[in-house]
Amino acid sequence: MFNKISLALSVTLLLSACATSPTGRTQFAFMPDTQLNQMGLQAFDSLKRENPVSTNQRHTQFVTCVSNAIIREVGGNWEVVVFEDDSLNAFALPGNKIGVHSGMVKFVDNQDQLASIIGHEIGHVLARHSNERVSQQMAVSSGMALIQAVSAPQTAMGQTALGLLGVGAQYGVLLPYSRLHENEADKIGLDLMAKAGFDPRQSVTLWQKMARAGDGQQPPEFMSTHPAHATRIQELQNAIPRALEIQKQAAAQGKQPRCSK
Ligand SMILES: [Zn+2]
Repeated sequence: MFNKISLALSVTLLLSACATSPTGRTQFAFMPDTQLNQMGLQAFDSLKRENPVSTNQRHTQFVTCVSNAIIREVGGNWEVVVFEDDSLNAFALPGNKIGVHSGMVKFVDNQDQLASIIGHEIGHVLARHSNERVSQQMAVSSGMALIQAVSAPQTAMGQTALGLLGVGAQYGVLLPYSRLHENEADKIGLDLMAKAGFDPRQSVTLWQKMARAGDGQQPPEFMSTHPAHATRIQELQNAIPRALEIQKQAAAQGKQPRCSK
C-alpha cells in the first residue's frame, strides 16, 4: 500500500518536474514558481537596501523607457532599478525584478543595445532558468536551507543562492549560466526586442563590443555570469533576418521606441 502511494507520489513529482521552456526545450525544474519569485523578491530587497540606487534622472529615464517598451510585449508588473555601480552588470530575477548597473548604462551606445541586454535578461526569467538552476542544486544538496539562505547573503549558502538567481559577484558567487541557457535567453531576447520595435542588429554589435571588453585584464562581471561562447555572435547573426521581419511588423504597428541616453 505504502509503496503504491510513494510510487504515485514520485510519478507526480517527476511529471511536475518536467516542464517545457518557451523554446520547446524539456526542463528539469521542480520548484514551485511562487518559491522562486519569493527568493527573487527577497534578493532584490536586500540589493536595494545595501546598494545605492541611482539618482541620475537621465540614466533612470533611459533604462525605464527601454524596459517599458519590452515589458509591454511580455506583460505583468516588473520593477526596474538602476544601481549606482560602475561595474558592467545587469540582471533579472524571478518575481519580475530587473537591475541595471550604471556601468552598463554608460557602456551601451544606444537604446537598441540596452534593449538587447534587457531582452536577454528577461529571457532568463521567462524561461525559468533560476528554477532549473536551483532545482539542480537541490537535487544534489540539502534542500530548504538553500532557499532560506537567500536572506543571508553573508553566508556561504546565501552566496550560492544569490549566485543561482544570476546576481553578480558583488552579491553572490559567480555562477555562470550554461551555454544552453545563454542560447535560449539570446533567442527569446532577440525576439522580444524586435517585437518591441528595437533594431535587432544592434544585439550583434553589442556582443562584439562585450567580447572586446572581455579581452582586457579584468573581464566585466557580466561576461562571467553570461559567458560569450564562440558561436553566440554567429547564431545571433543567423537569426537577424527573421528578427528584422518582426521589427518591420512592429514598426508598422507604430512601435518605434525613442529612448535617448
Ligand atoms: Zn545570460
